[in-house]
Formats: sequence, structure tokens, C-alpha cells
Amino acid sequence: MDKKLHIIGGGMAGSEAAWQAAEMGVPVVLHEMRPAVGTFAHRTGHFAEMVCSNSFRSDDDERNAVGLLHWEMGAAGGLIMETARAHRLPAGGALAVDRDPFAEAVTARLLAHPLISAEYGEIAELPVEGNWIIATGPLTSGALAQSIRAETGAESLAFFDAIAPIVYAESVDMSVAWMQSRYDKGETEEEQTAYMNCPMDREQYYAFIDALLAADKTEFHEGETAGYFDGCLPIEVMAERGRETLRFGPMKPVGLTNPHTGVKPYAVVQLRRDNKLGTLYNIVGFQTKMKYGAQTDVFKMIPGLHEASFARLGGIHRNTFINSPTLLDAQMRLKSRPNIRFAGQVTGVEGYVESAAMGLLAGRMAAAELLGREVSPPPPDTAMGALITHITGGAEAKTFQPMNVNFGLFPPIDAKGGRKGRKDRYKAYTDRAKESFQAWLAAM
Ligand SMILES: Cc1cc2nc3c(=O)[nH]c(=O)nc-3n(C[C@H](O)[C@H](O)[C@H](O)COP(=O)(O)OP(=O)(O)OC[C@H]3O[C@@H](n4cnc5c(N)ncnc54)[C@H](O)[C@@H]3O)c2cc1C
Repeated sequence: MDKKLHIIGGGMAGSEAAWQAAEMGVPVVLHEMRPAVGTFAHRTGHFAEMVCSNSFRSDDDERNAVGLLHWEMGAAGGLIMETARAHRLPAGGALAVDRDPFAEAVTARLLAHPLISAEYGEIAELPVEGNWIIATGPLTSGALAQSIRAETGAESLAFFDAIAPIVYAESVDMSVAWMQSRYDKGETEEEQTAYMNCPMDREQYYAFIDALLAADKTEFHEGETAGYFDGCLPIEVMAERGRETLRFGPMKPVGLTNPHTGVKPYAVVQLRRDNKLGTLYNIVGFQTKMKYGAQTDVFKMIPGLHEASFARLGGIHRNTFINSPTLLDAQMRLKSRPNIRFAGQVTGVEGYVESAAMGLLAGRMAAAELLGREVSPPPPDTAMGALITHITGGAEAKTFQPMNVNFGLFPPIDAKGGRKGRKDRYKAYTDRAKESFQAWLAAM
């Protein structure tokens, strides 16, 4: 039996996976197509190139979910986090890094490892034999993407993400919004009350349309094509087509009755449950290219969302990712071909840190399997555990879209002892996570 681990893609996830597996004593071959075959976003042939911003976001491991992920990766001996800290730039509470020396250092560490070798060139087909991790990222080459698609089915591989904003359920004002499915559809009461509804009168609707049309938007990156189809047009594009378009589209008020006032709304914004825990709701049909600042301003105009907190804002990007909740098992293996794991952004997490974290887990799981052991996923009350639980089953498969780490993915904290302030609650999440994560590491 081939005891080597092959990893396709030397980005954030592939680099971390290679390091973890090699540190556990498993020989690794890291396959990277750059520099011979490039992408529109990468500039160099280095491993772990940061394609856009040079920030790993908040480094606050007490009150921020991504900061907690930094901490967990550090505790697990993560190469990406260690190297990022070594090349840190001043950036307030964020972990910003000097991108080229960072990528050069990751590359040098990997190539110097006695158990890691690199092979350069595009892998165009899903491998049949051996043990593999696919970590080819949002810009997976076209040939490999087609091969993945042939295995998983066209429905299970996306080439764009059209992300609607996601709101923390607890931040919606339910004295304004109410729970109801259109025409009370559904067999059970849970189904009949599956959506949150935010009503607008005539004046509020037109003010909202005006704000949408005036808001700052981002352009597609060079090399990206808009490629959006009618099913997922940005809301501002719908609004440009006519001031009534949204009222006959995602904001139609039919089949909904406002129990607070009894008045028929002129338009309704609907939010749909986004995770099994019911802590997150996405705004239905609200994918957008508005800039982040503009999004919060415009979405907070929606009655019921004046005080909303967003777990993530909307966007439309070139992004290849699989429908992990249906395709992967809890060990990140492709159910139909368990010799292949997926890791990184291609699994439907989003961001440098989240991708590297999923690489860390996939590397450890694959190496353990080759060594005749099994590594269980970290508990869901840790940042890594919350993310892997989300992508391998916690998320709604039908509406699966890439996800950043956030506290909405964690099992809610028991708030005994009275209502805690948000900051204290986040600290309680991170305290609980650190204890759990240490126990998980110790049991490995
Ligand atoms: C334009 C753009 C801007 C972004 N900006 C940000 C940002 O500011 N902040 C942030 O956190 N995230 C950003 N992201 C997301 C970011 O790319 C990911 O979070 C992160 O890089 C994903 O890590 P990964 O390892 O999954 O993929 P990558 O880091 O992209 O690594 C995948 C690697 O696989 C290689 N590869 C692809 N196909 C093949 C093949 N067939 N054979 C061999 N090798 C292959 C690629 O060359 C690449 O090196 C951005 C993405 C894009 C596309």
C-alpha cells in the first residue's frame, strides 16, 4: 500500500495539511500548478500566497471567532499561524503580515522538511489510486473542476458564490418581524413558521430602493466574468431593472400577514434559517455586490433589522466549491471515493484562516489514517470543530454557501446567571472552546 499522502494545491490549506501530516511522520508529495499554470489572482510561484488582502483578520482570541481560530491553530502547531506571527506588521488588533516574506518562509519551511517533496504541474483529473487531499481553492483549474464535477454531479460543484448576508437571529427585532412561511406552507408548525418576515410600507420600500441604487458597489476582479444567471442576480441589478422588480421578486408580500399590526405590507424581506442550530438566518435573494459599509447601512433600513448584527455580508465572487454537507463525511473524505479528502476553500469555508484550519484538520486526519489511527473532529464548541461540523452536516445543504467562522456556528452558550453582555458572552464562548480544544489535542 502507498503510504504517501498526495496533496493537490500548495495554498493556505495544502501547505498546512502537508506540514501537519509530515510532522506526524507521513511522507507528503505536494502538487502545485504554479508557476507553470497561473490563476488570475496569484502573482508568484510560492506556496501560501495571499491573493488579496494581507490580513488574517482579528487576532483577539478572547472575543472574536477568527482570533480564536488563530489561537487553536497556534496550539496545534500550525505552520501558517507561526509564520504569520513571525512576519507580523503593525495593524491594531488585526494580524496583518508582510505577504511576500511570509509566503517565501512557508515555502522554505515546507521544502526543507525531510518528509515533504514538491511536484510542479497541473493535476487535471481526480486521482484514482492512493491517498489524496484536494486543496485547490477557489480558483481550482478548469480541467480538475470538470473532473470533480463528473464525480460529484453538476449540482454539487459551484463556480461562483452568490452570498446573501447572514444575520444573527438574536439581533432581529421580533416586535417588528414575525415567523411565517408564505401561505403557511408546510406540514408541520416548524415548516409553516420557517421564515422571519420584515415588513415595509410603501414609503419604506421606495426609500430602500433609492438607497440600494445609490450605494457603492464593487467591480468584478479582472479575469472574473460576471457570469451570474437570472436565478442569482444581485439585488441592486434587479432594482436597476425597475423600481417594482424586487416587489415582484424576492420582496413580494403575498401570502404573508403581519400579526403585529394586521396591515398588509407593501413589500416583505424574508430571512431563512441557515444552520441547524437556528442561530443564523440569511436574507433570501439578497446576494449583492454592494461594498460592505454600504451593505450594513442599507440593510439596517429594513424594519426589524435596525439593530441587526451580521455574521457575514453578501457578495458574488468567482469561487469553486463543493456541496460538502452532502459529499463529505465527518473525516472530510469524499463519500463516493474515500481515498480522497477535500480541504480549504473548495470545501465551502471562506478566508485564509478558515482554509488553513481545514487544511490542518485534513492533514492530521489523512496522516492518522495512514498510520492506522483515527483522529476525531474537534468538538463543535471549538472554532475548528464548529467550522468542520458546519460544512460536513450542520449547514443546510440546499442553500449551502461559503462560510466564515463566527459564533453563530457554535452551540449556544448556557446563559445561566442572567443576561450577559455580548462581550462577556463571546469570552464565555472562547473560554469554553479553549478548554475543549486542549482536551481534544491531548487525546490525539
Ligand atoms: C480574487 C480573490 C480575492 C480574495 N481575497 C481574500 C482576502 O482578502 N482575504 C481572505 O481571507 N481570503 C481571500 N480570498 C479567498 C482566499 O483565496 C482563500 O481564503 C484562501 O487562499 C484559500 O486557501 P486554499 O488553500 O483553499 O486555496 P488557495 O490558497 O487558492 O490555494 C490553492 C492552490 O491550488 C493550486 N491549484 C489549483 N488547481 C490546481 C490543479 N489542478 N493542480 C495543481 N494545483 C492547483 C493553486 O495554484 C493554488 O496555489 C480571495 C479569493 C479570491 C479568488
